[in-house]
Amino acid sequence: MEFISVKDVVKEYETAVALRGVDMDVEKGRWVSIVGPSGSGKSTLLNIIGGLDSPTKGSVFIDGVDLGSLSEDAMARFRRENIGFVFQQSHLVPYLTSVENVMLAQYFHSITDEAEAVEALNRVGLGHRLHHRPSQLSGGEQQRVCIARALINSPKILLADEPTGNLDRENTRLILELLKKLHSEEHFTIILVTHDPFVSKWAERLLTMEDGRIIKDEPLYC
Ligand code: ADP
Repeated sequence: MEFISVKDVVKEYETAVALRGVDMDVEKGRWVSIVGPSGSGKSTLLNIIGGLDSPTKGSVFIDGVDLGSLSEDAMARFRRENIGFVFQQSHLVPYLTSVENVMLAQYFHSITDEAEAVEALNRVGLGHRLHHRPSQLSGGEQQRVCIARALINSPKILLADEPTGNLDRENTRLILELLKKLHSEEHFTIILVTHDPFVSKWAERLLTMEDGRIIKDEPLYC
């Protein structure tokens, strides 16, 4: 079985059907982009892969683990140990500094280690912003803190939902270059949702969704 395996996943809400039978396999270490019009089910699929939401039907396996078999507590632990998230909004704690925001993620995972948090911020090019609070950082810098926070516990998978959606082109490029460098060094798997063709083309594989289904699956050569 592939590293990530989504099998015939359906997600129905009271007012809408978000996913109408999605099958998808992702090899370990791949960078996959998911594109498609607004409302096509991209975020729902990403949330289900990340265990933030559960399917109405179908199953998701990650590294052989059937997410549907996990209790809520076991799911939370699995997420902490295996998955890093980056969203469009940074969701940083406003009164904590960059280092403290990264250390908070360590705290929820295991134990805090300030030197390791500083090193993670150095790796994303924020060694000079360690003690700044989010309001004192640019949008691009805030997303770098989020990437450091998402990767601090060495997850196997990074799930990113419109991670550059609030950034201008130059900052978008800088964030993507950073992700590319970290991905090539650390070999985690990336699934990135975007509506922006400039962003999606950095992946090795492009999935296109429409109306709750994957309608195209193509390799990219970058
Ligand atoms: P995308 O990320 O491609 O914009 P979404 O996954 O956010 O699409 O949404 C897919 C469909 O599911 C949309 O019709 C949306 O309105 C609906 N939807 C998503 N989340 C919910 C929810 N929590 N409750 C009801 N409907 C939802």
